[in-house]
Amino acid sequence: MEDGPTYGFDTLQIHAGSRPDPVTGARQTPIYQSTAYVFRDAEHAAALFNLQEVGYIYSRLTNPTVSVLQERIATLEGGVGGVCCSSGHAAQIMALFPLMSPGCNVIASTRLYGGTVTQFGQTIKRFGWSAKFVDFDDLDALENAIDKNTRAVFCEAIANPGGYITDLQSISSISDKAGLPLIVDNTTATPYLCRPIEYGATLVVHSTTKYMTGNGTVTGGCVVDSGKFDWSANQKFPSLSEPEPAYHGLRFHETFGALAFTFHGIAVGLRDLGMTMNPQAAHYTLMGLETLSLRMQRHSDNALQIASWLEEQETVENVTYAGLKSSPYFDRVKMFCPKGAGGLFTVALKGGYESCIKFVNALEIFSHVSNLGDSRSLVIHTASTTHRQLTEEQQIAAGSAPNVVRISIGIEDPRDLIADLKQALSAAK
Ligand SMILES: *Cc1c(COP(=O)(O)O)cnc(C)c1O
Repeated sequence: MEDGPTYGFDTLQIHAGSRPDPVTGARQTPIYQSTAYVFRDAEHAAALFNLQEVGYIYSRLTNPTVSVLQERIATLEGGVGGVCCSSGHAAQIMALFPLMSPGCNVIASTRLYGGTVTQFGQTIKRFGWSAKFVDFDDLDALENAIDKNTRAVFCEAIANPGGYITDLQSISSISDKAGLPLIVDNTTATPYLCRPIEYGATLVVHSTTKYMTGNGTVTGGCVVDSGKFDWSANQKFPSLSEPEPAYHGLRFHETFGALAFTFHGIAVGLRDLGMTMNPQAAHYTLMGLETLSLRMQRHSDNALQIASWLEEQETVENVTYAGLKSSPYFDRVKMFCPKGAGGLFTVALKGGYESCIKFVNALEIFSHVSNLGDSRSLVIHTASTTHRQLTEEQQIAAGSAPNVVRISIGIEDPRDLIADLKQALSAAK
């Protein structure tokens, strides 16, 4: 199918990037379970290796099933290209890799998925990179944190564990002014609820493990490029603007224009870091994406109904769901994700840590797992699990204080979910 701007989201989530298999007529995208692809002749092989012709060489770089997924996600996000990888965390490294070198830093929001706080706060130091964490509601602090070694600004559209919506418009005007790319992790919103590129994001990263796949079967990630950033405007991004020594001196920006970042991601990033998505994972994610809009609307509608109910319960201290009128971020929902605030929020119980443990243990429909964005409802006590490695201050800054439980609302019947929460709240008293 030719992807025209005239097609709606519901059409694109099913058709973008795919067409009936030209050889067999197979209507569904086949799982191309093949490591390598036969060259027509030696000239064809040389053209592929020189990136003069686009085609398939070896599945660490490209695979036809994965390519369909890349194109579909890029289309849904309104970007020019996408690179799928083995997980959301891989996508984050793949997004930073062309931009950073030893001594460089990324300015990151304090409100991030706990795993990202650890990846950015600790692990990337091994590459000589560093992160400066800033409260993204304090625009002056963000502006002041940017220095001559800053190469990117990073935030989540709807921050995990929920309840916080980033003011993408203000953040992107600051990154624009500083000549820096803005990277937005859109995992919890998905392009159905929010399209960060429309608010000025340069790159969008995803953990496709979550809502994009939607059924808890495979891990995966994707980096989408808006194609709008001028990598040659200054000397900050030599890997894209100057001859790239890792690809025999190719100038990616000059050669590929708006697709420079995507080509670099495949030809250097996947080639040398090897964080490749496998075709089976791409298949499951393609299946999930076909119903993304239906699921996200139901996740959001269920979450709003359940968060409203929880807020009224006497043992509940508060509920942080941006879709609630009581949320300080309610107005940002109207602006950045008017269809709904997603399926993720936290609830704080008056009974504290012990009460949270009892609550989680008593739930029956909700599963206690370290995941989110499944069609099933999930729950986790973040302070004792995903955010365990953070200090108490970091836990509180990330919205994961010891008396907080993160809830990922599924697409089940909301009446059953409320009944389950009701019995677990009384067990937790
Ligand atoms: C889960 C998650 C990640 C990491 O993704 P993986 O697929 O688990 O590597 C990154 N960001 C957010 C917001 C997430 O929820």
